[in-house]
Amino acid sequence: MLDQALGILKDVFGYDAFRGNQAAIIERVAAGGDALVLMPTGGGKSLCFQVPALMREGLAVVVSPLIALMDDQVATLAELGVAAVALNSTQGPDEQREIAERVRRGEIKMLYLAPERLVQPRMLAFLQRLPIALFAIDEAHCVSQWGHDFRPEYLQLGQLAETFPEVPRIALTATADMRTREEIVQRLHLQNAERFLSSFDRPNIFYRIVPKEQPRKQLLAFLGVRKGDAGIVYCMSRKKVDDVAAFLSEQGFPALPYHAGLPNDVRALHQKRFLNEEGLIMVATIAFGMGIDKPNVRFVAHLDLPKSLEAYYQETGRAGRDGLPADAWMAYGLQDVIFLKQMLSNSEGDERHKRIEQHKLDAMLALCEEIRCRRQTLLAYFDEVLPQPCGHCDNCVDGVQTWDATEAARQALSAIYRSGQRYGVGHLVDILLGRDNEKIRAPGHQHLSVFGVGKGHSEAEWRSLFRQLVSRGLADVDLEGFGGLRLSESCRPLLRGEVRLELRRELVSKVSKPAASAASQLVRSDEKVQWEALRALRRKLAEEHSVPPYVIFPDATLLEMLRSQPSSLSEMARVSGVGARKLERYGEAFLAVLNGESAAVEAPRVVSDLRHELVSLARAGMTPAQIAGQLSCSEKNVYSLLAEAIGRQQLSLDQALDLPEELFGEIQDAFLDGEGELPPVASIAGQFAGRVPDGVLHCVRAALQAELEA
Ligand code: ADP
Ligand code: ZN
Repeated sequence: MLDQALGILKDVFGYDAFRGNQAAIIERVAAGGDALVLMPTGGGKSLCFQVPALMREGLAVVVSPLIALMDDQVATLAELGVAAVALNSTQGPDEQREIAERVRRGEIKMLYLAPERLVQPRMLAFLQRLPIALFAIDEAHCVSQWGHDFRPEYLQLGQLAETFPEVPRIALTATADMRTREEIVQRLHLQNAERFLSSFDRPNIFYRIVPKEQPRKQLLAFLGVRKGDAGIVYCMSRKKVDDVAAFLSEQGFPALPYHAGLPNDVRALHQKRFLNEEGLIMVATIAFGMGIDKPNVRFVAHLDLPKSLEAYYQETGRAGRDGLPADAWMAYGLQDVIFLKQMLSNSEGDERHKRIEQHKLDAMLALCEEIRCRRQTLLAYFDEVLPQPCGHCDNCVDGVQTWDATEAARQALSAIYRSGQRYGVGHLVDILLGRDNEKIRAPGHQHLSVFGVGKGHSEAEWRSLFRQLVSRGLADVDLEGFGGLRLSESCRPLLRGEVRLELRRELVSKVSKPAASAASQLVRSDEKVQWEALRALRRKLAEEHSVPPYVIFPDATLLEMLRSQPSSLSEMARVSGVGARKLERYGEAFLAVLNGESAAVEAPRVVSDLRHELVSLARAGMTPAQIAGQLSCSEKNVYSLLAEAIGRQQLSLDQALDLPEELFGEIQDAFLDGEGELPPVASIAGQFAGRVPDGVLHCVRAALQAELEA
């Protein structure tokens, strides 16, 4: 039986081996048994029912909660040469009748349905007269009333057990928690199902959480090295979504907003564009969620804190379904904490419910301030033990420094107490640093004993300290008032000197120092041209077939073509993801691109892309040396491109260079010394030899020139 399954895997899907539990699950279902499959996003759930569907006689019925999900799978199967259709409410009566007719004649192998349609008596009667291979219930957690994806229609699916006792049923979900699992078994009558539980680790995702300083600048730095990648940026509010999307577009990053306040058709259009186009950024509230099956989402960035680890795991999990490197990045600050606590205290619901929510938020905050491996902490929350630190998160890679913050924390708490427990962090920091200003003088705070005791630490350090005090519950935020800080019960042992406090030290990084990303190294710079050519061909074919590009071939398959350089159809057939049908349809065209006969495809826009990327990297605060490293070109080239961009007024001199004021004055004087025209760089270069690279002079000259012409 396994041989048959492997044959289908290779011939139809073009893959060589099963992953994880796939083989065991397929064996179970193909033999007629029930199964409950718990597997993380990207784990490969679809094959678990698609392969047995092809092994067994009759029609496979797949239940799915969203039309978008169904369409995606049907398109993917159609490309593989499998007869699959979806029946849904967007089709007219004639079309529906025709589909039913084809099903009756046995021409269809897989039928995708919404649950409410499946349980209609007429539909059930119709199916009872047909041979049925299996029922697959996708996104089975929708049956759980506790989850946020609850669909009442799912509750009725329990009756399948009685109506079709002979037909195997397989339920699948990426939701990990125990309670949901038990509910699925109960409500779907899956007591006899074998359970297949996979690890919920997403090894290809790199996790990074940074303190929020200048969030937009930080976001730009993060995105700067990911030009051309598709990703999601999550924000808390609709307004912020609109603002950030507009901001990114201005900065040259193609971005679209998505939130529940947009008209339905706009939302649908944006979602469709996100799926069909490459390199789009979706800026969204959490309304953008289930149904996003796009496999090559390369990053998920959070500009605001999710309210639980469940939400964080699910949202970040939308990155890297295809198994290729992906990034989860988040900036978080004290304001996030205050905001979420405020929401919580204003929310409806009983005390017990609020306590649970508070508990969840605390777990989220603990992950942010975590000093050990992020992945170990995250998985531990879902009761999974990762024995070793992962080596693939910020804490593992950068290392975390801690410091003994006991004394500083006591000073901070004392500042809160002595100023009357009603001031916000800005004011408290002013007190500690001994800043003499109007706001301090008015209440006479310059006379407090703590005034100026904290000069040994910087403002940033104090802010970080206050944030960590609140995150750890050692200080509270006054939620009724204006967000002033108060002491909490739990800070007493610390004040009495009974415990010590060890806190993480923020890396004193220049905001803009971009984290090297695993994802941006997907293709090396020498592979870029061919990679773009392959992607361009895929885009063209996708447009011709009206499907998203990844339905033609996933990125992993293109990447393998790039690396293995097949030179014949038989070599092409060995590439993972190239099944018989796709080989026949597309093999020649992709071979032609690999052989350099890519005339059919538009030339990649390498040079203009480079310029564009350079401008955004500079705006994000990278130094010329860093940019040179990023773009794999010489520093000299970077300087001349910077000078060009300054001349075109795409960059200010400040954005391009971090030049000390005095030095700038000196260079400026040298240029403006004579009359009339600015002298060429060569004529003053001698004067600055050994002090600054000539490139700097070029940049200053370009700036002066632009000013003179303005
Ligand atoms: P899930 O539904 O669990 O999120 P999918 O079924 O969409 O995951 O699979 C994720 C990706 O992994 C898809 O691109 C799929 O083609 C690929 N995939 C699944 N199983 C295998 C396998 N055995 N070998 C290679 N690729 C696989
Ligand atoms: Zn780690």
